[in-house]
Amino acid sequence: MGAPELADVSSGVLLIVDGDRGVVISLPSNETLQEYRSRAREDKKLRRKSRVSTAAPVTEDGVRISLGANINFSEEVAAAIASGCESVGLYRTEFDFFREGKQPDEESLVGDYSLVLKSAKGAPVTFRTIDVGIDQKSWDGVNMNLGVRGLRFCLENTDLFKKQLRSLYRASINGPTRILLPFVSTIDDLEAAHEIIAEVRSDLDFRHQRYDPKVPVGVMIETPAAAQTCDLMASRVDFFCLGTNDLIQYYLVIDRSDQSVAHLYSPFHPAILRCLHQVYSLLQPTGKPVTVCGEMAADPPSAAVLLGLGFTSLSVSLVAYPRIKRMIRSVSFGQLRQLAGQILKMQKPKDAEEIVRRTVYRS
Ligand code: PEP
Ligand code: MG
Repeated sequence: MGAPELADVSSGVLLIVDGDRGVVISLPSNETLQEYRSRAREDKKLRRKSRVSTAAPVTEDGVRISLGANINFSEEVAAAIASGCESVGLYRTEFDFFREGKQPDEESLVGDYSLVLKSAKGAPVTFRTIDVGIDQKSWDGVNMNLGVRGLRFCLENTDLFKKQLRSLYRASINGPTRILLPFVSTIDDLEAAHEIIAEVRSDLDFRHQRYDPKVPVGVMIETPAAAQTCDLMASRVDFFCLGTNDLIQYYLVIDRSDQSVAHLYSPFHPAILRCLHQVYSLLQPTGKPVTVCGEMAADPPSAAVLLGLGFTSLSVSLVAYPRIKRMIRSVSFGQLRQLAGQILKMQKPKDAEEIVRRTVYRS
């Protein structure tokens, strides 16, 4: 519900405010109300089980999970670090970039990114290069989600891309920096991006500008094409981030911004579980690190499935950070590994979700 619609709500009307998803549901159906009540009860249960917010994200059986924060605006970084986040696993740069309504120049970008790195106080920051297209409605009959977004957009707007890359490299002397390329679907695109990165670096060398030459470059696995070929990309990248928000939308053919199909959007769908299992199996022999940074990592039951599938690095929004840490500290990694084996054989998302919820929220 948007702000003007909210102003139309008369007093006494029942509303559900879902701060996690950023939605307000007016006059919810009985079923929706029950679902939210049961979620609130489950959350409370988890809170009772583990109150240690400063403790490390280690499972009951001693497996250390890396837990980073997803950040959209530079101002959030200091708060994230102050509340104990060990890294910024995903910094979505497009929000700051387009904030003023016009393109920032290189000097102001270097200033912004340097400030982010200084605020991170030595914690690594993964800057994702501009991903336009997300959550944008189609225009002129063109669906942005299937069009020129992410890396495709950057490869068509190379001046903008080079400016952002130059700024990131220049800022990199202020702290551990990683560069992440979104919406990659072909190795040709990845090669083209590397060529531009090499050009940017030799330009900086020529201008005698300092930068960290060891900045790792990674790709998002968020298209079915990347999920199927991540092992083929591995020799060309230093790390991967698994973007389940887009991966689920493309895999299940569900527009993530279309409320009329939102009920079909499930991380427990067997196609998604199999896809994630496959990605894990393809990447494991490559030794390349992978962090899951989609919303699937931000809800305790689906995050537990990720652990069960073998993923030991997650990055979540600041809102979700405490509850995911609590979940990690209250589960057994070994038990979740077994559970994942079980749910990989299940036919229906609801059945898989039910069995995981019972494990995560056991009394
Ligand atoms: C994703 O697709 O899972 C992701 C983290 O990227 P975004 O939500 O910004 O598209
Ligand atoms: Mg995405």
